[in-house]
Amino acid sequence: MKSLFSSELSKISFLSFIGVLVGYQLGNIWLGLSIALGIYLISHLYHYRRLDEWLAKGGHVEKPFTNLFWSTIMDQVLRLLNQLRRDKIQLKSDLDYFKESFQALESAVVVVDIRGSIDWCNLASTHLLGIDLERDRQQPFHNLVRSPEVLSYLEARDFDKPLYIVSPCSLDIHLELQATTFRQTFTLIFARNVTDVFKLETMRRDFAANVSHELRTPLTVIKGYLETLRDNSADLPDIWPRAINQMLDQSDRMDSMVEDLIWLSRLEALPVKEDDIESIDLNAILNSVINDAQASAPNKSIKLDIATDQFKAIDISTSDSLHMSGCYLELRSAFSNLVQNAVKYTAQDGQIQVLCLPYNDKLVVRVVDNGDGIDPVHIPRLTERFYRTDASRTSSTGGTGLGLAIVKHILARHDAELDIKSEVGVGSQFSCLFPLTQLNRL
Ligand code: ADP
Repeated sequence: MKSLFSSELSKISFLSFIGVLVGYQLGNIWLGLSIALGIYLISHLYHYRRLDEWLAKGGHVEKPFTNLFWSTIMDQVLRLLNQLRRDKIQLKSDLDYFKESFQALESAVVVVDIRGSIDWCNLASTHLLGIDLERDRQQPFHNLVRSPEVLSYLEARDFDKPLYIVSPCSLDIHLELQATTFRQTFTLIFARNVTDVFKLETMRRDFAANVSHELRTPLTVIKGYLETLRDNSADLPDIWPRAINQMLDQSDRMDSMVEDLIWLSRLEALPVKEDDIESIDLNAILNSVINDAQASAPNKSIKLDIATDQFKAIDISTSDSLHMSGCYLELRSAFSNLVQNAVKYTAQDGQIQVLCLPYNDKLVVRVVDNGDGIDPVHIPRLTERFYRTDASRTSSTGGTGLGLAIVKHILARHDAELDIKSEVGVGSQFSCLFPLTQLNRL
């Protein structure tokens, strides 16, 4: 390009020189120079026009005949054009590759624009969501997937958790919907068929519910006979009274487990009924839970003293008139489990405090104790069914290992979360974090 530039410069110098010579002969140097430069300019304009015509045809036709300067420029343009064509082909093949892979997916993929209209979707969207790309492009997504839950999920734009829905195409298909935004204005909706998982989960739930119900009757019979035997144990050989009492303790524990399992199954099976939601006086419900914990302890023979002493430290600091909306039975069960645990895992001289306070955007109900504390390795698993720390497995707390699973379920049904903080030897803090909107909603 540099040599081209210098050759062009020599050409102008040569033409100017000729122009000046001719002008000198004619008696007007400037006229001669202007004519020479004019010829140079016209020649370039002519070649530029040829380039323009050639470019207008997309550079697909034979390169027109021009001088070296314009021919070099055309070569370079041609090189760039070819590169552009290659990039375009590559880009199209990449795009086709991604489209084909999306098409091959068994899950539905739908791209929705900022107005909520369908921009693109894959084949699986037809049988999972009832969306056909050709027919429904630019149609509002919620016109085809008509569900208030889906609408509010997409409007809230909080896609941390998936949404579970029944397919609009068939009541037998269960979908897990997960959305994500890209390029700020587009939303990609991914719908996975989770019917098998749903069926398995239903089977597991039904199995747990049925087994617990079936166990109830034989357990009642066994307990009945054991109680009769205990009442008449005076006539039995010496080894029997102790054995009968142990059997009774274990059948009581089994009874609590069955009751907890039945309660858990009920929580899993049905959503909270609107009729069950009421305005709950938090001060009253927490006081009643604490009173129950205090009252139940004296009946527990050997634990009686321990319980009575530690209950003295129970304190409740709630403001006068905090009310929240929720299901009374469920919330009472959740708070009661937390208070009972604090009682169980706190020593004789321990202190338990129940707090209730609006904090930031949450309504916090917190049970704090200065008991055994929990090793941090156990904390993430505490709400699993039957998960108990080794210490509590070997001790005789009489727990079922289901209490925190029940608490977690109940809180989830109230859009709340359980936060656990604990330190071995220092104590534990179990906080129920309700959205502040629950406060005085009714
Ligand atoms: P459990 O019936 O065994 O108490 P939970 O589900 O209520 O079952 O609790 C699970 C485990 O969490 C308990 O076995 C115990 O190890 C631990 N835990 C619960 N609450 C406390 C607490 N306040 N202090 C120490 N450990 C606790």
